[in-house]
Amino acid sequence: MKKILSITVLLFVVFSALAQLPRVIILATGGTIAGAGASATRAGYTAGKIPIDDLIGGIPAVKKIADITGEQVASVGSQDMTIDIWRKLAVRANEIFAKNEADAIVVTHGTDTQEETGYFLDLVVAHAKPVVLTGSMRPATAISADGPKNLYDAITVAVSPKSKGRGVLISFNEGIFDAREVMKLSTTKVNAFGSPNSGPIGQVYDGKVEYYMTSMREVNVKTPFAVTANTKFPRVDIVYMYADAPPDLLNTLIDKKVDGIVIAGVGNGNFNKAYMDAVKRAVSAGIIVCRASRTPSGRVVLEDEINDEELGTIVSDDLTPQKARVMLMLGLLNTKDRKQLQQYFFKY
Ligand code: ASP
Repeated sequence: MKKILSITVLLFVVFSALAQLPRVIILATGGTIAGAGASATRAGYTAGKIPIDDLIGGIPAVKKIADITGEQVASVGSQDMTIDIWRKLAVRANEIFAKNEADAIVVTHGTDTQEETGYFLDLVVAHAKPVVLTGSMRPATAISADGPKNLYDAITVAVSPKSKGRGVLISFNEGIFDAREVMKLSTTKVNAFGSPNSGPIGQVYDGKVEYYMTSMREVNVKTPFAVTANTKFPRVDIVYMYADAPPDLLNTLIDKKVDGIVIAGVGNGNFNKAYMDAVKRAVSAGIIVCRASRTPSGRVVLEDEINDEELGTIVSDDLTPQKARVMLMLGLLNTKDRKQLQQYFFKY
């Protein structure tokens, strides 16, 4: 009798474990996906108004694929994303996985700076479990809002065993993108994201996830970049290059003694003579200067038109200026050594 009872208990435990849905925690930060407009036909709206529990309530079908919990980390349009919110996201994401509170994380986020947050988390979340960002282009109150579908798809991507070990992903408009490669390419269209150098790495369609590519730059568990609640980030700014640009902004940053400057150069990370002189001054003041490009695809090549060794600059490789800034901020937490920083850009 005792034996039958213990077998029954054992079977119950095994079956309930098998029946358990993957646990997903949604870290909500705001954005248009949580945006509310004055009417269904007006494009104007305020980002970050709708709480995450209401967004989850809007996609009841999700209960069949995941055990969801929502946490409101912030409620901002992502033009107002801050380093402080990045720090909170990084600390919480690492804690969730370290304490085994969830099998995957979804971050809801405005689209404007989603690629920056995505790459930041890619570099600092030291676990192989999926982290998937998503958002929407139309507010929740619009006709044919894209938020519920994007959120459902992002959860589908997050719970797929195929998504493990791929670093941070962005799921948007049925495309799956590597956080390192992705970029917002349209100001208003629902197919807002693309990866100019690599294309999407996969697709989520009809509740199924398929991957076609693997990134060579996965960070995951081996990341050298660590963020705690007390991390004080260095200041790194971006300066845009354009025809006949005066060096005033660079000079201001030198006077402000910033830690790093990323130049969104033209073409292969080039800049004019006025910038060249200012860059020399910045380097001799101990500021790390990284040459990136305002051109959306391709990479910035070391020692091509500019002699970086002589000038004392580093290059962004194929990172956009906004992502080069993220990398430089994190790299500078570990070292001020130019060669080591350059290696980070080539490796991650
Ligand atoms: N400005 C909004 C944001 O980034 C745009 C969006 O989410 O689509 O929060």
